[in-house]
Amino acid sequence: MAKPIILTADDEPQVLNAVERDLRNHYKGDYRIIKARSGAEALDALKRLKQRNEAVALFLVDQRMPEMTGTEFLTEAVGLYPDARKVLLTAYADTQAAIDSINTIGLDHYLMKPWDPPEQHLYPVLDDLLSTWWLSAPPPYDGIRVAGTLWSPASHDVKDFLSRNRIPYLWLDIEKSSEGMALIETIPPDERKLPVVFLPDGSVLVQPDLRMLAEKVGLRTQATMPFYDLIIIGGGPAGLGAAVYGASEGLRTLMIDKEATGGQAGTSSRIENYLGFPKGLSGAELADRATTQAIRLGAELLLARDVVKVRVEESNKYITLDDGTELGCKALVIASGVKVIRLSVPGVEGLEGAGIYYGAALTEAANYRDQHVFACGGANSAGQGAMFFSRYASKVTMLVRSESLEAGMSQYLVDQIRSTPNIEVLTGTEIVAVHGVNTLEAIDIRDRATGAVTTCPAAALFVFIGAKPHTEMVAGVVERNSAGFILTGQDLIRDGKKPLGWKLQRDPFPLETSAPGIFAAGDVRQGAVRRVASAVGEGAIAVSLVHQYLRTV
Ligand SMILES: Cc1cc2nc3c(=O)[nH]c(=O)nc-3n(C[C@H](O)[C@H](O)[C@H](O)COP(=O)(O)OP(=O)(O)OC[C@H]3O[C@@H](n4cnc5c(N)ncnc54)[C@H](O)[C@@H]3O)c2cc1C
Repeated sequence: MAKPIILTADDEPQVLNAVERDLRNHYKGDYRIIKARSGAEALDALKRLKQRNEAVALFLVDQRMPEMTGTEFLTEAVGLYPDARKVLLTAYADTQAAIDSINTIGLDHYLMKPWDPPEQHLYPVLDDLLSTWWLSAPPPYDGIRVAGTLWSPASHDVKDFLSRNRIPYLWLDIEKSSEGMALIETIPPDERKLPVVFLPDGSVLVQPDLRMLAEKVGLRTQATMPFYDLIIIGGGPAGLGAAVYGASEGLRTLMIDKEATGGQAGTSSRIENYLGFPKGLSGAELADRATTQAIRLGAELLLARDVVKVRVEESNKYITLDDGTELGCKALVIASGVKVIRLSVPGVEGLEGAGIYYGAALTEAANYRDQHVFACGGANSAGQGAMFFSRYASKVTMLVRSESLEAGMSQYLVDQIRSTPNIEVLTGTEIVAVHGVNTLEAIDIRDRATGAVTTCPAAALFVFIGAKPHTEMVAGVVERNSAGFILTGQDLIRDGKKPLGWKLQRDPFPLETSAPGIFAAGDVRQGAVRRVASAVGEGAIAVSLVHQYLRTV
């Protein structure tokens, strides 16, 4: 692929030459630097680049250009290259204009002139923006190609795996693409199974399993050592948090995920409530940043490997991978999260995160002030959610499949709900479809007794139909509650007594399970606050508790 372009514009020759010099010094190996002496000249250059289908990664333009300001140029440029990253060079007096353009044109950053030394003020900012640009950059044609059909679940799995691991590929639907069909026809008819993955080195994988695919695309699937200080099961926010802190604090750290890093958060299109990202960021971007950070700090990451068993031998812990390989460690953090049970009715796709939310989504509740919202589910979590939303919404309608609230909910909650005037409970009902163009607009509700379907306008739907923790691998090793969530810390102390089999004088540390030296962090833990920030925080806390534990053995 031709090198992507960094385009810079400034009407002051001295400044323009200085920017060009600094850009070339750092980026000329990977990018082509193009300079323009005015906004208009830059725009002409951009139009020619677009005609030749060249990739533009970043604009670095001065706000103060007499004929066309930097903001005016960027306003035009985003129409041609919406994904290119946008940076303004500003003087102190331009700050307000720059802040305004964050909202108007999605400006990514503004830099004060002068930017010396560039190693401190220029390159870190641009490096960061360019690395995120690569995530959304069009895939090179000489990269991985996946040929299959839209309706084949195996094709979906391969695409999902590649994109969740942020590996670019070109999708060829053989029902629509003649190139895809021609590629498939190179495979002998009796071996043709979809999807087929064509790799840049010329090798071909027919309906590959994820581990095979991971190995071929360069993800690490084998551990380099048999024994570590710390092993982390799960590479979601909690696992990544633990990996970053474990590795940075000198522990030989291995993190294992059966799919990709990022966990549930990695599937989110936009995380708005994570500290430090005022414009929000996609789950893929968050996962990518955290993964790079964990690797840079020295953590080893295994992907596409399932931990199927955990055992304890004296003070050591051993995990078994899906191929029977056993790896040992001094301390283990279980950060294997949950699988949220998704609503599966027509219309859901595209509305998740846009009116349909899983769990209490507390941050969303305030957005639905004085509106009519729905909560679906009949367990305590749904009841707690409804009570919470009733503080904001004009009306909360609970949709419960069973015939009574008491069937699945604690009596105290039932009583609270009954005495809250703006909560309505519709028992014996189920959702059969949802509607909306960009955001949820209405829900079809079926009366299970009569079969009658009513369409109700709805501003939001909060779904509480359960989440299943990934804890099968620790069954019989650590205490879990009836739903499978792992008990930690004070939850293990009952009537002042330590958990069964606990031989130590001390109580379990917070986040420690009923097996000393095995910790649980994030959504997998009983009572966890299901949020990215809390999962990351628990991962970090677990590592500090690992240090305390290691001092005792
Ligand atoms: C669509 C969606 C949007 C969300 N949006 C937000 C939001 O905007 N803000 C917010 O704060 N929270 C959000 N959340 C919640 C947030 O993502 C979770 O609370 C958070 O991801 C929990 O992190 P975790 O590391 O505990 O678990 P998870 O994210 O569930 O990660 C667990 C990881 O463990 C791996 N794993 C499981 N079992 C094994 C095994 N046996 N061997 C190896 N690996 C294993 C899984 O593959 C997974 O990658 C969202 C959740 C979803 C589903």
